[in-house]
Amino acid sequence: MKRGMNCFLADQCSDRLMGCGIAAALLGYAMRALGVPGAEHAVLAGYALLLGGWALGVRYVVCPHCGRSLSRFLRLPGDIPGRCPHCGERIGPEE
Ligand SMILES: [Zn+2]
Repeated sequence: MKRGMNCFLADQCSDRLMGCGIAAALLGYAMRALGVPGAEHAVLAGYALLLGGWALGVRYVVCPHCGRSLSRFLRLPGDIPGRCPHCGERIGPEE
């Protein structure tokens, strides 16, 4: 077993959660504009997913060599950089 969560998998999960969160929040706003009851819940659920995805990215998208975060300040990278910006080690999917 590899230690911890694979950073590529974490990045993928994080992206997906955030994408779903944004979609749910937008849907909630659209529902509210149309006067659909319960729209606030969809907006809140969207933000919860967004926050969860962001937290997941910050916590688990880390360098497999030095363990430091690969996400930039308040913004997650769309994909993993080829080299760690902290220790300079190559980051490959086969590792
Ligand atoms: Zn590193």
